[in-house]
Amino acid sequence: MSDKKKIHLLSDVDGVIVNWFAGFSEYMKEQGEFYTGGLPSRYDMKDVFPLNTSPYKHIQEYQASHHYREATLFPEVKKALSAIRKLDIPVTFITACGDHTEIKAVRSVYFEKHLPDLYEGIIFLPLGDNKDEAFKSFNDPDTYYFMIDDLADVCKVAYRNGINPILKDMEYNRHDIRFTRANDYSQVANYLSEFKNKLIDTYQVTPNDREQSISQSSNAHF
Ligand SMILES: [Mg+2]
Repeated sequence: MSDKKKIHLLSDVDGVIVNWFAGFSEYMKEQGEFYTGGLPSRYDMKDVFPLNTSPYKHIQEYQASHHYREATLFPEVKKALSAIRKLDIPVTFITACGDHTEIKAVRSVYFEKHLPDLYEGIIFLPLGDNKDEAFKSFNDPDTYYFMIDDLADVCKVAYRNGINPILKDMEYNRHDIRFTRANDYSQVANYLSEFKNKLIDTYQVTPNDREQSISQSSNAHF
């Protein structure tokens, strides 16, 4: 293991980078589905679309629709990714939005247009994949890996693969208290900046002090 470890951020896309729900609500209104308004507190969104009898069919159809292709970035994302790049921390998107050719092509063009030079690459996984296999490929012992995701179950899988999870705070994961949380991407940038500063500080002290300091920084709440 080298003396100076690197940092790498793995990032979910839908609900974290892209405002997935805004596009979904537009799609559902077009389907004539009754919408109560507000944000969902359940992942299947049956609280805000109570008459929806096939939520996952709608999710799949939405992701093949123009509403999904036109979904917008959360407003703080571009600035936050620029700040993370200035920290010399690479970002890899890992998305389980589906790995069909059209979805991959649309998303690749979208990110090249809106986030040029702000990410290393995109890993597309089948719809709903828990990302376990993808996480296993990020195993450089000289790197601290972080993952931001809006699903607590994915954060748990990340943690089991030695990756520090950050849970994007959403109505549907409020009950889960195991993880470090971020309200938005600017908090992720701040968190990584603080972590990197602590890391730099620890290079000035003895190896034992360093390991203690870093373990205090990790978010093992299990
Ligand atoms: Mg997500």
